[in-house]
Formats: sequence, structure tokens, C-alpha cells
Amino acid sequence: MADLANCPNCGKLYVKNPMRDVCDDCYKKEEAAFDRVFAFLRKRENRAATVETIVAKNDVTKELVYKWVRKGRLLVANFPNLAYPCDRCGALIQKGKLCDHCAKGIQDDLSRFEQEKRRKEEQRKNTYYFKNF
Ligand SMILES: [Zn+2]
Ligand SMILES: [Zn+2]
Repeated sequence: MADLANCPNCGKLYVKNPMRDVCDDCYKKEEAAFDRVFAFLRKRENRAATVETIVAKNDVTKELVYKWVRKGRLLVANFPNLAYPCDRCGALIQKGKLCDHCAKGIQDDLSRFEQEKRRKEEQRKNTYYFKNF
């Protein structure tokens, strides 16, 4: 059975495809835009272009460029000034889903949670011994 969804880009109903996250029309437009951007970046003088420059010179949206970088279609190893926003705070990053700051924040939250859990366990144990006296 075909799995229908609304295209997140234009809102049109389309048959979902695991390889594509937008409808056929948008997909074709995105691919054409990708070819344009890739041809632009392949020029030596554009290798160090930032997302802003790419957007300004190639008639594409920032979101689209971010998507390509996030998916690894545009490699930061080849184009060192490309980046995409952190899932949490929007700071520009080049790998993973979170910036260092947010990644560290989540880790701190986790260890605090672990500590709290251990403390409660200790408390429960103490109460238990107490009752047995
Ligand atoms: Zn669409
Ligand atoms: Zn962040």
C-alpha cells in the first residue's frame, strides 16, 4: 500500500519514498539546485564559501544547504566553511547533531540524573536497614 504524506516543502500530497523526503517536483528542483551549488563549489575560488555566500549566489534556501551538509552530500572535509545548525540551540556545527556546548550540557544532565538515582537508592537501603532494627 502506498504511504501518502504531505510534502514538507510545498504541501502537496505525495507517495512517501524512503530515499526522498519531499515530493517529486520538489525533489527535481532540489537536485537541480544541488547541481548548481556543487558546480559553484567545485570552482577553486569558491571552495571556502560559507553557507551565506552559497545562498546569495545560487538561488537556494539556507535550509537546503544545511540539509546537504547534515546528510554529508556536501563534505566539510572538502568545503571547510560549510556548517549546519545544532539541533538544540542553532549554533553552527560541522559534525554530529549537537554543538559541543549542548552535548556537554546533556552529559551533565545525565550524570546529575545518575547521581540522583544513586542517592535515592542509598536512601531506600538506609530506610530498609532502619526498619529492621
Ligand atoms: Zn513538494
Ligand atoms: Zn547547541
